[in-house]
Amino acid sequence: MSGLYDLTIIGGGPAGLYAAFYAGMRDMKVKLIEGKDYLGGFLHHYAEKTIWDIGGIPPLRCDQLIRQLDEQARTFDPSIVFGQRVDGLETLPGGAYRLHTDIGDVHDTKTILVAVGRGITEMTKLNIQGADRYELTNLHYTVQNPEAFKDKRVLISGGGNSAVDWANELVGLAKNITVVHRREEFAAMERSVSRMLESVDARTPFELQELHGQGDVISGVTIKHIESGETELIEVDEVVISHGYTRSYGDLLKWGLDIGSHGIQVTDHTATNLPGIYAAGDCATYSNKVKLIAGAFTDAVLAVNSAMSYIDAEAPAMAYVSSHNEKFRERNRQLHYGGQRSAP
Ligand SMILES: Cc1cc2nc3c(=O)[nH]c(=O)nc-3n(C[C@H](O)[C@H](O)[C@H](O)COP(=O)(O)OP(=O)(O)OC[C@H]3O[C@@H](n4cnc5c(N)ncnc54)[C@H](O)[C@@H]3O)c2cc1C
Repeated sequence: MSGLYDLTIIGGGPAGLYAAFYAGMRDMKVKLIEGKDYLGGFLHHYAEKTIWDIGGIPPLRCDQLIRQLDEQARTFDPSIVFGQRVDGLETLPGGAYRLHTDIGDVHDTKTILVAVGRGITEMTKLNIQGADRYELTNLHYTVQNPEAFKDKRVLISGGGNSAVDWANELVGLAKNITVVHRREEFAAMERSVSRMLESVDARTPFELQELHGQGDVISGVTIKHIESGETELIEVDEVVISHGYTRSYGDLLKWGLDIGSHGIQVTDHTATNLPGIYAAGDCATYSNKVKLIAGAFTDAVLAVNSAMSYIDAEAPAMAYVSSHNEKFRERNRQLHYGGQRSAP
């Protein structure tokens, strides 16, 4: 895994994963560094949702999309480094770069693709002592599998889009739903809030005060009125905490990249103000930027092609189309004919 790479991608969300695939089509020696222990990026925050708006892909659950992106990214066997946050940037003699990570590793590369999206995100944990012991049973920070809440008494804490969304998702499935929010008003789309309020027991302004457990399972929650201090015990089977998330980019923001209010400023070829460094996906901004998965894919193609031209000015401007690319001949044969016949 050591040595000098043509392209090092920082971030394993949709932009970074698609870039890893596309850079393979360009025969680049590629490394992808992801701060978490898993790939998929922000999609993990809504893994149970169904995605409809990627061209040519029928509606599919986000966790399935993550699996497919992961598989595609590995087509040309890039090096993938997990659990390292890229922090420092050093320019080496000759113009290559050395990246430093939070665990002290270094990674040398000719070009860099910054695909850090919304940063390394962590769910905000419930600030009640000992709450973590229920995380393996019935204290949840995401709703991964709505069916698991069937006929359950569910308490959701939070007042943003995710909390309201999950409440609406579980209406009709759960036995009953209590939504606890520390403010009077919910900070979510008006239509979703009205829909939710028709079907759940909303307690505002309340906050969670204490979890009551039987063994490692929460059986009740004491909630406290923010102003009066009055408390109430609610019996529950499942508790969902939706208190937002924190995000971090490490020291990457100190590299001297041109960063505006909407992200890293790039040209229409995704070039940043630093030579050989490109940005793609949600962290990059330019005129008419599309902050969607489809937009991240387009950015990734542009960035890889720009990096290729930076390394070799004579290289073609883009990869040869996949439909007629010799690279896929044997793979197509395997895919369609199990290697028995010639691929068309
Ligand atoms: C609630 C919600 C719903 C959405 N629904 C849709 C939808 O239906 N359809 C659609 O097209 N788009 C949707 N989007 C937008 C979509 O999620 C983003 O466009 C997409 O995730 C952007 O991908 P990305 O790779 O740029 O960034 P991310 O997905 O944010 O991935 C960035 C990755 O970089 C890693 N990283 C960050 N900093 C470092 C570092 N210093 N070192 C190492 N790794 C690092 C992070 O851990 C993360 O894995 C939605 C967004 C939200 C908020």
